[in-house]
Amino acid sequence: MRKVYLDYSATTPVKQEVLDEMIPYFTEKFGNPSSLYEIGAEAKETIMKAREQVAQLIGAKPQEVVFTSCGSESDNWALTSAAHWKRAQGNHIITTKIEHHAVLHTCQALEKEGFSVTYLNVKPDGRIDLQELADAITEKTILISIMMVNNEMGAIQPVKEAAAIAKKHGVLFHTDAVQAAGNVPIDVEELGVDMLSLSAHKIYGPKGIGAMYIRRGVALPPLIHGGAQEMKKRAGTENVPYIAGFGKAAEIARRQLAEHAERLTELRDYFISQVQKNIPYVDVNGGMEHRHPGNANLAFNFIEGESLLLMLDYYGISVSTGSACSSKSLEPSHVLAALGVPVEKIHGSLRFTIGDFTTKEDLDYTVECLVKIVEKLRALSPISAEKGWN
Ligand SMILES: *Cc1c(COP(=O)(O)O)cnc(C)c1O
Repeated sequence: MRKVYLDYSATTPVKQEVLDEMIPYFTEKFGNPSSLYEIGAEAKETIMKAREQVAQLIGAKPQEVVFTSCGSESDNWALTSAAHWKRAQGNHIITTKIEHHAVLHTCQALEKEGFSVTYLNVKPDGRIDLQELADAITEKTILISIMMVNNEMGAIQPVKEAAAIAKKHGVLFHTDAVQAAGNVPIDVEELGVDMLSLSAHKIYGPKGIGAMYIRRGVALPPLIHGGAQEMKKRAGTENVPYIAGFGKAAEIARRQLAEHAERLTELRDYFISQVQKNIPYVDVNGGMEHRHPGNANLAFNFIEGESLLLMLDYYGISVSTGSACSSKSLEPSHVLAALGVPVEKIHGSLRFTIGDFTTKEDLDYTVECLVKIVEKLRALSPISAEKGWN
């Protein structure tokens, strides 16, 4: 049976060139980068090269990039350490209602410690209102964290404008750019952010390796204490093979960004138009203008997204109902809820995310299966266009 993977925002496969780069560091080049003999020095050089590759992807200087264990660690680090560091100046943090749980749950933990958090609303297109951000700032505001690209419905936030507002008030600014990397151009100088989170497995690198950009001069205290690795900012013996892989993935992502984004946009728009042409009552969640090039979050009215997902799986098609991290719970997506999507419609929503290995044939097959499944499920559904709610 045909296998179609349409969940690239959950994770991506490791590209062959990336894997080839990683393999030697497990075996013959296994040295500890802190060791002074040859295989140690070699590992250290590999890390330096990867740091430069990741820095180039985001327009940073290599010294401003620190490797972490994942995107979640980077988000936890930025928020927790910045909050504790600036505690004497205030206890107020601003973020949005549609952040990844790595940010939202860290904010909740900080609230338990006595910090106060404002969660900004988003408009139906998924973007924040900059005036609402400016109005939310008080004398006690110490940190603003706004994601660059949303993982569920792909909204691209006005990060540059938001960071400028933060700067005007002398407030630290962090952005979660895990979904942005490789899909939209990132230039930390142009954006004016202080901290930025990245993860390798969303850009065809391995899982379990991330990075954080920390602007030069921002003395963010470490989260993980121990040895002097990573310029004394993040202790722990470096994961050299994964760092090498992340570097290679970043290099490829930078080289192919324009072409990749153009190809994805074309496939995504083709997919949405084919679905809407062949299936009635399907809406796109979020706006199309400022959107991740590979994201199609669709509401199939009058059916349960979970049933649709399981039946697609039966046909070999992998999609998700929201973020992979929360899809095990039956809680309606906090992101779609924040967009103002009614709860029945959220339950009928699925996220299709297209990536480098997606073909037009994959999408045609998916539409074909969707037509069959949606028809069947709607026939069984107690609600319908004729019977009510729309
Ligand atoms: C995947 C993801 C993360 C978490 O990254 P991990 O490396 O899986 O911990 C954080 N933020 C966003 C927006 C993501 O999509």
